[in-house]
Amino acid sequence: MFPGYVGRFAPSPTGPLHFGSLITALGSWLDARANNGTWLLRIEDIDPPREHPGAADRIKSTLDALGLHWDGEVIYQSQRLAYFDSALELLVEKELLYPCVCSRKSIRKTVSELGHAAGVYPGTCLNRTHENDQPHSLRIKTSGVHIEFADQIYGDLTEDLASECGDFVVKRRDGLPAYQLAVVVDDFQQTITHVVRGADLLDNTGRQAYLQSVLGYPRPAYMHLPVVLSSAGKKLSKQTGALPLADTSLTDSVLSALRFLNQDPPGELSNALNTEILEWAIANWQPNLIKHAGAP
Ligand code: GLU
Repeated sequence: MFPGYVGRFAPSPTGPLHFGSLITALGSWLDARANNGTWLLRIEDIDPPREHPGAADRIKSTLDALGLHWDGEVIYQSQRLAYFDSALELLVEKELLYPCVCSRKSIRKTVSELGHAAGVYPGTCLNRTHENDQPHSLRIKTSGVHIEFADQIYGDLTEDLASECGDFVVKRRDGLPAYQLAVVVDDFQQTITHVVRGADLLDNTGRQAYLQSVLGYPRPAYMHLPVVLSSAGKKLSKQTGALPLADTSLTDSVLSALRFLNQDPPGELSNALNTEILEWAIANWQPNLIKHAGAP
């Protein structure tokens, strides 16, 4: 038991829940309930091009049908832009941000010309000032930032931000806050003590821990759950052909999700009601049994 446990599920409304997102929803819900904790639902709707109309409502109704009930009001990031702006102002005051006019294409070109690791921002705009006001994103400086954090499943991890991702975007060129910033502000404001989410986000945790430290926020505990792969070995998602969870077979989906998390539900639960399966799963939740295939 962890007194004062506050967990959350924070889906982006890019489509209906599928087996991959069920793993995160169920794992985070079970960890919260097994710790007698609170479980909050936050809709991360600040990336309009990726969003799907009606997806947030559909996610909520599937969670309800699954019996994964959340506590309190659902929050929507699109309604919280002022909070993200205040955090950005604090980072500006600390002189940690600079404007960047690079496009993805120009970054790829520079990185390959320099022979640097792909995906690491080469610092092209580091000394740029706001003088000529072209459309720009804001990046945060990462020079010399070395992060150590513990993950409940993947163990102790370290990340050298400058060499592993470089200065990263906290405000996008379209004016919206970047995911890294929004997630950290909302985890703080919702007083989240435990983040349980997919291991595809494991390598984002160093960036988030850095933002927490410069913004003066406490760091929650992290548990990254293994991701479900499609038959082609890619993370299961709408793009890789994940099917929406079918209302008619939710019980089977929950049992399969428990097996995926290595929780070994007994055979007699195959004919049980969903509520009974979830009760068993809370009482027998053992995250230490979850297997992972090495840090992604
Ligand atoms: N919104 C993110 C997603 O759906 C999850 C963010 C998080 O759990 O930190 O992938």
